Amino acid sequence: MESIVARNRADLVKARGDGPVVLVPTMGALHDGHRALIREGRALGVRLVVSIFVNPLQFAPTEDFSRYPRTFEADLDVCRAEGVDVVFAPSVEDMYRPDRQVAITSGHMGTIVEGASRPGHFDGMLTVVLKLFNLVQPDIACFGQKDAQQLAMIRRMVTDLDLPIDVVGVPTVRETDGLALSSRNRYLSADERQVALALSRALFAGAVEPTPEKVRAAALSVLGAAAPELVLDYLALVDPATFEEVGDGYHGDAILAVAARVGATRLIDNAILRL
Ligand code: AMP
Repeated sequence: MESIVARNRADLVKARGDGPVVLVPTMGALHDGHRALIREGRALGVRLVVSIFVNPLQFAPTEDFSRYPRTFEADLDVCRAEGVDVVFAPSVEDMYRPDRQVAITSGHMGTIVEGASRPGHFDGMLTVVLKLFNLVQPDIACFGQKDAQQLAMIRRMVTDLDLPIDVVGVPTVRETDGLALSSRNRYLSADERQVALALSRALFAGAVEPTPEKVRAAALSVLGAAAPELVLDYLALVDPATFEEVGDGYHGDAILAVAARVGATRLIDNAILRL
């Protein structure tokens, strides 16, 4: 099926139509994780818009914005094959006016865990997601559990700003050996990819333990064994709604989140567990 490609806001308005819409926001370099989101959206039976936009606001100057993989033609093939109705792929200039001033602040939650390692990241992410929501006006939007804090922050924004949008979370898609699919995996050499398996292995090791203390210890022991090739950024066991660390007496759902550097590549992963 042909997908309509909207390269700017005016084309998007025409392509969107008047009926209900589901939006799947992405930064492109589409893989099977993105496909899972697209299929979830497709199954809802309404017009499906996929956005492809590498958002400069959510990258720090030291991060990989300029070398982030851009594979637009291959992405279009994926969207066509998955029956996407509209691909919204604006330019940076079309999204951000040069004199822009106002942006979203993500609050305390945007400064902890992943936000502590990437100052400003969640402000930039929420700003672009709110802009995409305003431009596309979706009824439903799909996001991956792979970026668990992002998903939690988007739910927070929808609640705090009274946005009339249902947020659907989609489970993380993994390779058969456990590695979470990520656009950044293509940066990894074969050896680095082997080292990177320690992230998911650490999560799986932690997830079967009964107490917060044992969860952290089991995961850290796997991560420690992968050093020095793997440089741990953080391991955090947090409340899924607030991303605050859970204490030893905690009972309920928790997220075990990890970030680490393998060579020049920074990877994140997480698992949901019940304590
Ligand atoms: P990105 O293009 O990396 O910004 O991701 C776009 C969307 O795809 C986000 O909602 C991500 O959480 C989601 N996503 C990325 N990788 C995966 C994965 N392995 N499984 C499920 N969703 C994913």
